[in-house]
Amino acid sequence: MLDHLPDKLDPYEFVEKKRRIKGKLALSALDRLHDLLLNFEGVANIDLEFRREARIAAVVGRIEAELVLRCQCCLEALPWPVASEVRLGLVRSIDEADLLPEAFEPLLVESEEPMALADIVQDELLLAIPPIPQHEYCGPPKKPGKAAAEARENPFAALAQLKKTNL
Ligand SMILES: [Zn+2]
Repeated sequence: MLDHLPDKLDPYEFVEKKRRIKGKLALSALDRLHDLLLNFEGVANIDLEFRREARIAAVVGRIEAELVLRCQCCLEALPWPVASEVRLGLVRSIDEADLLPEAFEPLLVESEEPMALADIVQDELLLAIPPIPQHEYCGPPKKPGKAAAEARENPFAALAQLKKTNL
């Protein structure tokens, strides 16, 4: 097992060597998350095993992080703990991705260049973030008030329309 996390890695090579990587990655290194986070002081805990599962070159494990998102309603902090079960199948092309069993999400490795670990991690975390983060109590009102008011307006609108037609 590697005690320190590599910045970059060749996923296929790691599978062949049956590597397991475990450690903490600073959220500040995950630049594609920055717009979504209120602060990026924390870390993501990574525990990933690279191994073959039948004929699939797989990355299996867990990514956990205590994210702090910005509520899109009140703009205040929204704690968002993520515990993501990772089950990726390495593929060289979209065609290969189509052949993966359903239990795997494809991880496209198009280049021979080593991949940034941060890219793999932030892709997983992005999947765990809702499209419009907001507090439960900030959500759209569930009271019938507005809908009822609109319904009351409608008969008048219909009446007005009727009057116009009669003129
Ligand atoms: Zn809010």
